[in-house]
Amino acid sequence: MSEFGIRENIAAVQEIIRAACDKAGRDQSEVTLIAVSKTKPVEMLREAYDAGCRDFGENKVQELLDKYGQLPEDIRWHMIGHLQRNKVKYIVDKVFLIHSVDSLRLAEEISKEALKKNVTVNILVEVNVAGEETKFGTTCAEVRQLVRDIAQLPNVCIKGLMTIAPFVENGEKNRQYFRNLKKILVDIMQENIDNVSMETLSMGMSGDYPVAVSEGATCVRVGTAIFGVRQIVQKGEEC
Ligand SMILES: *Cc1c(COP(=O)(O)O)cnc(C)c1O
Repeated sequence: MSEFGIRENIAAVQEIIRAACDKAGRDQSEVTLIAVSKTKPVEMLREAYDAGCRDFGENKVQELLDKYGQLPEDIRWHMIGHLQRNKVKYIVDKVFLIHSVDSLRLAEEISKEALKKNVTVNILVEVNVAGEETKFGTTCAEVRQLVRDIAQLPNVCIKGLMTIAPFVENGEKNRQYFRNLKKILVDIMQENIDNVSMETLSMGMSGDYPVAVSEGATCVRVGTAIFGVRQIVQKGEEC
């Protein structure tokens, strides 16, 4: 047993992803497991790193920066939380992918800061697919136009879509939302918009990632099933 049991947890999650891929006729290499390490200490991230994990998800800029400075450079950092425009400048040249872009104003800020630093930032557009009032994300009705508008901006590249599904006891309840988001992704892909690739579908968390994989997720964001329950319920978090 490793110190925190994280190696075992990752192996178990990967096995469930593999089984869901098998069942759906997909290859496991199509699905990236993002270890959502928010609120967890660096020692735990290091154990996940030593177990082979290179993709980590954080939802606070300051926490991401702290951990970024303490861990190996080959980690791909994913910003998965609501991002304030005044904090964009701190992370544009450090993150691999920003999952949580839900407005043109935010995308414009990312573009502006990316230009200054001479980098291109990969982003996903966040969709509030269940229309929950408490959640961020654009609506299913507005996402297509938002993608077209963001696609005009320099130094930003749209890679796909992301959603945070409702918190449910039974992950099956979210299948309809995952299926719907995949449909929207394919629709947008068929528009062939310049600067938009639609290769990434970020959906599925500890309670529902096998369902998300069976509906076409290419990234699953798993925290609790890897690191255990979080003590601190953060402001702005889903549950
Ligand atoms: C916290 C969080 C997760 C992980 O949630 P778990 O239920 O702990 O797996 C995934 N995505 C986002 C956006 C989150 O904020």
